[in-house]
Amino acid sequence: MTLFAGVDVGGTNLRVGVVGGLKIIHEKRTHTDFTSLCQSNPPDVAWQQIIAVTSAALNEALQQFPQVTSVGIGFPGFIDPKNGHVAQSPNLPGLKNVDLAGDLARAINRPVIVENDALAAAYGEFRLSSLKDGSLIYIGLGTGVGGGLIQAGKPSAGEHGVAMEVGHIIVEPGGRLCGCGNRGCMEQYASATGVGISYAESSAKADSQLIDADQIATLAAAGDKRALAAYVVAGDKLGQALAHILKVVDVGQVIVGGGMSKAWPLMQQVFNQRLQADLIPVLRDKVNINISDNEDRAGIIGAALLAGAKDHLNL
Ligand SMILES: [Zn+2]
Repeated sequence: MTLFAGVDVGGTNLRVGVVGGLKIIHEKRTHTDFTSLCQSNPPDVAWQQIIAVTSAALNEALQQFPQVTSVGIGFPGFIDPKNGHVAQSPNLPGLKNVDLAGDLARAINRPVIVENDALAAAYGEFRLSSLKDGSLIYIGLGTGVGGGLIQAGKPSAGEHGVAMEVGHIIVEPGGRLCGCGNRGCMEQYASATGVGISYAESSAKADSQLIDADQIATLAAAGDKRALAAYVVAGDKLGQALAHILKVVDVGQVIVGGGMSKAWPLMQQVFNQRLQADLIPVLRDKVNINISDNEDRAGIIGAALLAGAKDHLNL
């Protein structure tokens, strides 16, 4: 069986998987905290470190599975379709026009392709689903909010590599400053980061200790009103943005994944209310919204499958 490696680069964790068919046969997760690395170092220093850590993790897997022929990376950033470079990454600040595929290929001696992490996850979800040539939208709720579109069975990256950058749809003009440089982007409210900000903003100064979205979810499940309110904001902003998206790209399936989708029950009601209210009436209740049941496998499988495709965006 031909093997490919799929890598999911996140703001906090790096995951490397070896994929055969549609299955991950080996996986390793490393806590890397690339976001803090980029925040506290000059971009060239952070970049060298990102390449060193990622190639070390890959080389370890390749030593065990030398028959891996190529590697696909899902990266949280805008990928220039002309040269495959990472043009910018709102959650890995400072990086600009870096040649991830080239730098990694030299370090691991294998061909490497790079695609946006949410688009790779969208492709993984599509291939793991029963859809043969349909269309779907994937929304990944994590450190940021990513999106990926599969149309007639093909991933759609757009001419500038920013198709479905749904996290940067402005839902609150003049609102919170985003890593992309604008204000009021959806991911400043509906991501794990956004939930943390909502919770901190609602706290009295004396106890405005920063806690993460998982801890806030635990508080919310126990009935903490401020914690619940932070998730209500997230669900509302996500529903608002998705209603816009569905009016532009009319698909029948939406899959929500990413680490924060575990807290979906805290957002679901307000999300549905907002989505149905904002949709065009003929679209109401016509779109299937599902939480991914592939846990976090889709990103790695999608990246690996894209690496195995000849011309990865023109399959
Ligand atoms: Zn933004």
